[in-house]
Amino acid sequence: MLTTQIELKPKVKAFLEGKIELFINGKYVPSVSGKKFETYNPATEEVLAVVSEADEEDVDLAVKAARQAFEKGPWPDLSAAERARLIYKFADLLEENREELAQLEALDNGKPYQIALDDDIPAAVEHYRYYAGWATKILGQTFPISKDYLNYTRHEPIGVVGQIIPWNYPLVMAAWKMGAALATGCTIVLKPAEQTPLSLMYSAQLFKEAGFPDGVVNFVPGFGQTSGAAIVNHPDVDKVAFTGSTVTGKYIMRQAAETVKHVTLELGGKSPNIILEDADLSEAIPGAFNGIMYNHGQNCSAGSRVFVHRKNYDKVVDELAKMAENVKLGAGMESGSEMGPLVSEKQLERVLGYIEKGKAEGARVAAGGEKAFDKGYFVKPTIFADVTDEMTIAKEEIFGPVVAVLPFDTVEEVIERANNTPYGLAAGVWTENVKTAHRVANQLKAGTVWINDYNLEDAAAPFGGYKQSGIGREMGSYALDNYTEVKCVWVKLK
Ligand code: ADP
Repeated sequence: MLTTQIELKPKVKAFLEGKIELFINGKYVPSVSGKKFETYNPATEEVLAVVSEADEEDVDLAVKAARQAFEKGPWPDLSAAERARLIYKFADLLEENREELAQLEALDNGKPYQIALDDDIPAAVEHYRYYAGWATKILGQTFPISKDYLNYTRHEPIGVVGQIIPWNYPLVMAAWKMGAALATGCTIVLKPAEQTPLSLMYSAQLFKEAGFPDGVVNFVPGFGQTSGAAIVNHPDVDKVAFTGSTVTGKYIMRQAAETVKHVTLELGGKSPNIILEDADLSEAIPGAFNGIMYNHGQNCSAGSRVFVHRKNYDKVVDELAKMAENVKLGAGMESGSEMGPLVSEKQLERVLGYIEKGKAEGARVAAGGEKAFDKGYFVKPTIFADVTDEMTIAKEEIFGPVVAVLPFDTVEEVIERANNTPYGLAAGVWTENVKTAHRVANQLKAGTVWINDYNLEDAAAPFGGYKQSGIGREMGSYALDNYTEVKCVWVKLK
């Protein structure tokens, strides 16, 4: 089939060919060591751009800039409304640059350009707008303790925050972290994932253009063990917010204990998507398919365990398999691509390893089950049938386009099996019975439950995990607590 390559925007071309440096204290600067790292196009396996690599010394400079900006004007002197205006302005600039940013996501992460343009960029823009609205609404309380005292709380910004994000939604993950931090008046040192630094580094100039004072946002692209660890260990960082794997999250939490940093974690999942006996299959089947395959399964809330009532099991497996076979795989910058490559070779190996394990442990491949194309980190959307709860593919997070479809007989049984995991990020339930829907939702141990839909997210709705899927909630009013300290003030009135 003939495919057309989407033409690179001139600003994207210039950005990729220019120097891509760290962003510290309002300027693009090279790393102190002069080191650089390469970022790859996962569709071609070729080097896409070379980026300055932050290390401990660079992180220290970024933290110093963030501290200075936090303590000294103009940032702490701005009114809440002025802070809001800067965030709104930045959101407008992101929107103006949406095509450039969507191209950078498509090239660096691999996701289809159209999806980045329709989903990722608008989600990031709206996220900033939502939190711009909060800047003027961060309230304390007063307490009627006695007539002789006035007692009230102030919700103050926590200080310099360190934020570490993954590669699956580069710009959106940055927005989830930065929106609430900026609204509350914090200053930021953020590390993008080493696989996907480009859209964030492009957006740095837009913070400058929007008028943010120098040092309020600082970006230190680099690796986890160096730049990431330096953020976590830095004594002058007041809080760490991390999104990524559960293994890394546990490590970060242990390290952050050394300096008693506030920590919020958004980690992995093995989310159940339950199709009850009475579900409307015409909605549930595509819903379950998108629930796992969206973003190539590289999604912490991916519905990677689809439980189907035994009566409908064969039909659901067959239809999921047909949908999988019809997906048009292609590079992010090929028009008409429905699913791109996985982000990296490491991710490809990991996902193929799980597929082999699934086969070896006796699951049946109903569709996919292998790499696609010679070049690029493409995996065919894979449907595993006849899966049991004990198989590795039903227990561990795969983070790829691979779903385990499991039969069940009763509602009580499926709730118990769905909850039988160390994770608790999200879950889905498909049923036409309103009572069953809410009863099951109440009993699922997950931070988000979708009823008759999947993967819905909005800046206003909190998101986060039970159990080993994380600590704290991002988005909505809940995220403001992550970035504020509560100060209680007593005033003697007599
Ligand atoms: P993956 O294995 O898919 O890259 P990670 O959870 O390790 O997932 O990575 C998510 C983010 O955490 C990335 O930005 C990565 O660089 C960073 N990271 C990895 N290890 C550490 C660490 N030891 N300390 C701080 N950040 C880390």
